[in-house]
Amino acid sequence: MSSQLFIELEETYSAHNYHPLDVVIEKGDGVWVYDVDGHKYLDCLSAYSAVNQGHCHPAIREAAVAQMQKITLTSRAFRNDQMGPFLKQLCEMTGYEMALPMNTGAEAVETAVKAARKWGYQVKGVADNQAEIIVCEGNFHGRTTTIVGFSSQEQYKQDFGPFTPGFILIPYGDIDALKAAITANTVAFLVEPIQGEGGVIIPQDGYIKAAYEVCQANQVLFVADEIQTGLGRTGTLFATEHEGVRADMVAVGKALSGGFYPVSAVLADKDILGLFRPGDHGSTFGGNPLGAAIGRAALDVIVEENLMAQSRELGDYFKGRLERVESDYIEEVRGRGLFIGVELNVPARRFAEALRRQGILCKETHEFVLRFAPPLVITKAEIDWAMTHIEDVLLAA
Ligand SMILES: *Cc1c(COP(=O)(O)O)cnc(C)c1O
Repeated sequence: MSSQLFIELEETYSAHNYHPLDVVIEKGDGVWVYDVDGHKYLDCLSAYSAVNQGHCHPAIREAAVAQMQKITLTSRAFRNDQMGPFLKQLCEMTGYEMALPMNTGAEAVETAVKAARKWGYQVKGVADNQAEIIVCEGNFHGRTTTIVGFSSQEQYKQDFGPFTPGFILIPYGDIDALKAAITANTVAFLVEPIQGEGGVIIPQDGYIKAAYEVCQANQVLFVADEIQTGLGRTGTLFATEHEGVRADMVAVGKALSGGFYPVSAVLADKDILGLFRPGDHGSTFGGNPLGAAIGRAALDVIVEENLMAQSRELGDYFKGRLERVESDYIEEVRGRGLFIGVELNVPARRFAEALRRQGILCKETHEFVLRFAPPLVITKAEIDWAMTHIEDVLLAA
């Protein structure tokens, strides 16, 4: 079947909740993906950073296939031999005492919200149903009704109300606004250390550290959503490390499975996650042996292939090359590691379309930003190849 037929099927049978580029991918290998018409593309989106390890990484695939031949799902009514070792590895790698495994990123954020509220009532002593969580304008934390309820993006919320109360929106990067928003009922500040969907927005140097200190001083949990920025994407394990901050609670997902399967988790110490009692919270698939086996292999790849250093070095190189493009369309190039946004002064969609015709897949975010976030296994030569086409497209009238 040709691309056009697959596109027609999708348009007919899928709800139209996305506006994808019209490329129909049938396989992937490392940084490359292939469409049904035999074209090859360099993936510069990495499924929103879920495939930091590269598409269909052979070591992760091997672990997945081996586990599929044994057992895939037990539910947490019983124990399995993969979840414990997976969470031990995740906790040791990240330096937290406990983890709560879920599937999607939005579920991890929901779990963090629940954990923060429970901590607020049981430890901080907030009165029943009064807990407040401070969040930032431009945030993206997922698509559940509770989460979109505290989005500042009108389209994410439109016709989905009524929404969960208890969330306070403040401007991103504004430390005084954070101080002013804190009350006796504030249990947490939920923040992305870099706003990915918001357009690769990097707050001013020192903001994350200052925000963490304000939280500490006020007995407020600093909760980092590292679902997109974590696990090597920005050149460190977590993006908060750039400012020497260890969040009280972290949500991870996406690259936790290297793109093989939805695997997410919330990380914190016992004083927070230890508050959950049997029956408080759960998920049929969360912590399942297939996801756990995949997660173990996905974490191994990040360490063994030095993906954090790789992201740092090649990110600097890629960003440097982008900064030297003298295009009238470019307003700003910003990024950390291989997490780069090019802000344009015109809508970015047509550049994404043009790059696609040259064999590079990337997606506009927030209308004016082109995001370049290839798998962290990309090589310098592949960046050089990409840059010749990116220059062509950005310099064309
Ligand atoms: C992708 C993302 C989520 C949501 O993850 P899903 O797996 O799509 O539910 C939450 N927060 C951030 C920062 C993300 O990038």
